[in-house]
Amino acid sequence: MSNSSEQIPKRARGAFVQQADSNVKVEEYDVVQPKDLKPGEALVKVMYSGVCHTDLHAAKQDWPLEAKDHLCGGHEGAGYVVAIGEHSNTNLKVGDAVGIKWLADACMHCEFCRQGLESLCPEAKLSGFTVDGSFQQYAVSFVNHLSKIPDGMKLDDAAPILCAGVTVYKALKQSNAKAGNWVAVPGAGGGLGHLCVQYANLMGLRVIAIDTGAEKKKLCESLGAEAWIDFKEEKDIVSAIKKATDDGFGPHAAIVTSASPSGYEQALDYIRPGGTVVAVGLPAGAVVKSEVFWHVVYERKLVGSYVGNRQDAHEALVLANMKNGKVKCHYVTRPLDDLPAIYEEMASGKLAGRTVLKLF
Ligand code: NAD
Ligand code: ZN
Ligand code: ZN
Repeated sequence: MSNSSEQIPKRARGAFVQQADSNVKVEEYDVVQPKDLKPGEALVKVMYSGVCHTDLHAAKQDWPLEAKDHLCGGHEGAGYVVAIGEHSNTNLKVGDAVGIKWLADACMHCEFCRQGLESLCPEAKLSGFTVDGSFQQYAVSFVNHLSKIPDGMKLDDAAPILCAGVTVYKALKQSNAKAGNWVAVPGAGGGLGHLCVQYANLMGLRVIAIDTGAEKKKLCESLGAEAWIDFKEEKDIVSAIKKATDDGFGPHAAIVTSASPSGYEQALDYIRPGGTVVAVGLPAGAVVKSEVFWHVVYERKLVGSYVGNRQDAHEALVLANMKNGKVKCHYVTRPLDDLPAIYEEMASGKLAGRTVLKLF
């Protein structure tokens, strides 16, 4: 069924990065028309898109993975399905509110896909990295991996949940921390981190927020962090974090959401014996070292956690849409044309919470 409820324009606006110079420019582009969609593809009218630090890594090309050239970034898109490719096997309908997340598509038949580990699929397509993402008014995405946005949820509230929210929610699950346990969150004032503070609270965890500056301190404390440590002011971060826990043994888990290597440096030193450090932030070239003797004797765990699967995305959205819920993204809405300035502010650590682009 190739159908469309509204006139699709031939041209629209989006933000594109050329590999050659890494500069992001807002340009007009040709919109894929409904008749040209392949089976399994959908055209989404993107109303809002969150800006993730991953988009900045993609623009700077500082990861050991190659991005598409002339790349339209963005993987926290929230909008409406306006057309679906013929012969698509889906229960999505034109008009449905959907989210575009980092994992744009996966083969659905390899061992990883069969186990719900779709982000490990060797054929995975990544929104705003290997395929164009949500920094455009009309985006082609894939019916199998679009997330349905719960009824009544505002699209701008939903957008940051599609990467930041699902990622920290899954990372918290990976940490195996239980209600009443302490969790440290380096990067707590950023996009992922401030949502991590909130999902952690929802799970009954006690949060030690680590970041810098008065604005992020205020944000983290207002969101329920019990302890705050400024990584630029505190001289002995390991002792300060351990001291913040009642018995001084350190947090049961750490969810490292910092985009700089320094956030990782001490995590294995302050984690409680038997505790788990969950690596989430992706600072280019960072290496985590752990002295084998103490790693063994203290039974430390270090696990990587990469976005989440379709069910994680669904759960993260549902939890962020609960009446009187504890999870609410703190964001500032800005126009698409601000993206170059947003990248500069993000690089210098000025942004507290998330920034959401308004595409229309
Ligand atoms: P952000 O810029 O909004 O937040 C990062 C925060 O880290 C900032 O508030 C900064 O002040 C803080 N920080 C920097 N150094 C620190 C330190 N030494 N200790 C404590 N805090 C420190 O970025 P974001 O959008 O939240 O993304 C964070 C990272 O997570 C990026 O590297 C991004 O690519 C990565 N990411 C990973 C996944 C995944 O699946 N694993 C998903 C999304 C994003
Ligand atoms: Zn992201
Ligand atoms: Zn697969």
